[in-house]
Amino acid sequence: MSIERNQSQKIYNRAKLLIPGGVNSPFRAIGEKLPIAIARGKGPFIWDADGNKYIDYLLSCGPLILGHANPVIVEAVKKQAELGSGFGTITELEVNLAELITGAYKSIEKMRFVNSGTEATMSAIRLARGFTGRDKIAKFKGNYHGHSDSLLVGLSEGITNNTTRDTLIVPYNNTQTLENVLETEGQNIAAIIVEPTAANMGLILPNEDFLPRLRQLADDYGIVLIFDKVLTGFRITPGGAESIYGVKPDLVTLGKVIGGGLPVGAYGGKKEIMDYLAPLGPVFQAGSQAGNALGMAAGAAQLKYLLENPNIYQELNQRTKKLTDGIAQASKEAEIPVVIKAIGSIFSLAFYNSMITNHQEALQVNTDMFGRWFVGMLSRGIHLAKGSLEVNYLSIVHNDEQINETIEAAKDTLKELKNK
Ligand code: PMP
Repeated sequence: MSIERNQSQKIYNRAKLLIPGGVNSPFRAIGEKLPIAIARGKGPFIWDADGNKYIDYLLSCGPLILGHANPVIVEAVKKQAELGSGFGTITELEVNLAELITGAYKSIEKMRFVNSGTEATMSAIRLARGFTGRDKIAKFKGNYHGHSDSLLVGLSEGITNNTTRDTLIVPYNNTQTLENVLETEGQNIAAIIVEPTAANMGLILPNEDFLPRLRQLADDYGIVLIFDKVLTGFRITPGGAESIYGVKPDLVTLGKVIGGGLPVGAYGGKKEIMDYLAPLGPVFQAGSQAGNALGMAAGAAQLKYLLENPNIYQELNQRTKKLTDGIAQASKEAEIPVVIKAIGSIFSLAFYNSMITNHQEALQVNTDMFGRWFVGMLSRGIHLAKGSLEVNYLSIVHNDEQINETIEAAKDTLKELKNK
């Protein structure tokens, strides 16, 4: 099956001359053979520069839970654009969005808006360091928290030895190593940061005792516990991990869905910690575009819609289950072992012959097979996440028709993989 991609190719050739690798985020790189440049999106669909149409399960890396160019968001942004895009001073729009978020998240008493998930986690870490007067942090293998130096240790060059020394990396879902580390380092650790539902090594749900134990350890050692909900916030339930697992963090980081597709991040939590921020306290954090009017308007429109229609989450769960059950059945029929997992409207898929329960296993998956699956699905008009460590998303406008079409494409693609 071959699809015309001349315009995409031309755009990619131009991009490569000016933008390293032709991409503004390395997650987007799909190699020389398969450039697709997207021209527009509507509902569950995107179209590339050559006019090819795809059912989109990337949804701008997650934010678009109402689908592309949903009129609810378009109208809010248009209306705000007419009134001004930002002012560098306070607006009611920021308060409106903050009220929606704090109303949903019981652990967020006060919060700050920033412009990305990276900024949210970076700022939460600085705040935890300022608040505790400690330098080190603990994070978990396979959790991703954006690209600030402290949180990218082990994953990039360009990070100083001092920063590397201050970031302790321990296994996810098993607190034994962390407990050993805490015995000697507990009094030096400012924060434990965790994805309560891990979604950057495929989906890995927390073991039953993992989050309660983290809460206990953080309390024992006076450490700030940060739940990074940038990816999963408002995707699984409106109330966050605390409403599912019953464990309250000290700080929460958010992004993606809360901005309705515009660049918005946020962090918040206990009042006594948040009030440590300037101008009230000694920890500095700022942003020319923080709380910008367009992002606040888009985010508030999206959250308001979600909060006023809470049955959406159940519907999304059911549709996601229908899709993942269908793909799992197709993999059985093709006799190709696929690990497919879902929570809320998020799902991950990997080629591996037993369950994936940790980062080590997540790295052992068949990436060659995944590459061929991705190409096979794309050539059948299905746009997925580009690797098995990344997750896919559904929106409220992905209906049965698109789900069935995706399952059919999966059947054909898996058959093709089997016969190769
Ligand atoms: N935290 C988590 C859990 C994420 O998944 C991501 C990005 N996918 C980030 C932080 C960073 O967010 P951003 O890409 O908006 O900087």
